[in-house]
Amino acid sequence: MPEAPDLEVIKDYLNANLKRTRVESCKVLRPTVVRSLAPEVAKDLPGRTLLDAQRRGKFLTLRFSGGRSLVINPMLTGVLQHCQASVRVQKKTCVTMGVGGDMDLRYLDDRQMGKVYWIDNGEDGGDAQDGLVPQYMGLGPDVLSGITFEEFQTRLKKFNGEIKGVLTRGSFISGIGNAYSDEILFAAGISPFKKCRALKPDELQTLHTQCRRVLEEATETLRERMGGDIHKTVRDFLAVHNKGGQPCPKCGGNITQLTANQRITSYCRHCQPGLLIRN
Ligand SMILES: [Zn+2]
Repeated sequence: MPEAPDLEVIKDYLNANLKRTRVESCKVLRPTVVRSLAPEVAKDLPGRTLLDAQRRGKFLTLRFSGGRSLVINPMLTGVLQHCQASVRVQKKTCVTMGVGGDMDLRYLDDRQMGKVYWIDNGEDGGDAQDGLVPQYMGLGPDVLSGITFEEFQTRLKKFNGEIKGVLTRGSFISGIGNAYSDEILFAAGISPFKKCRALKPDELQTLHTQCRRVLEEATETLRERMGGDIHKTVRDFLAVHNKGGQPCPKCGGNITQLTANQRITSYCRHCQPGLLIRN
């Protein structure tokens, strides 16, 4: 599942390589992922120029000339691919765009749970996605946007429940998903099952610091590792997530891994103490 670090690298890649590129063609191969809120994207997009790519939380917005934007919510398995147009179109390819010469920008989605919104956000290119794209309006500040500790603390007071679940809620802070919440909590030495109201002041401080630090470091690692392969998900450098049974990088004990509601939680019982309480 793409989270803030993955999408940050993709955003920068698109801005470095495709800014001011004219889209020559557009084909929708899997219409179920597309929500056209402006005229049909396949007809309306060709001829427009990519102004820039922006990211907020786990949403990527490609802004085009003429006041239209493609807002992508990749959910679990959505990815963008920049490749030669001659590369074989896979079954999971949902949308293709011809972007200059013989290159394509494609949206691929294995499970097709992601959504692509083609919206009219006016000539000024404003933040119209707020009203048009579900879940966008309720998004909290982006995890890489430099949230102060005061704001972090104030926002957290509105939530209940286990800290891991709260971290992954876009309405608290946006951009953290299942994998990086495990990484942040490991770095902070906090059990994923600890109730967020039970966190002590020093734990809150550490958590605030690690949210940003872990995601910034991951972004830099991914920038080096992904290169132009923006469709590849690189996760092997993570410390604990999905590494159940392997040695903890801090204490050498075994990493514990649980699966609930099809979500993996990986943590170290020794470095992240706390009782596992299931209500
Ligand atoms: Zn450990």
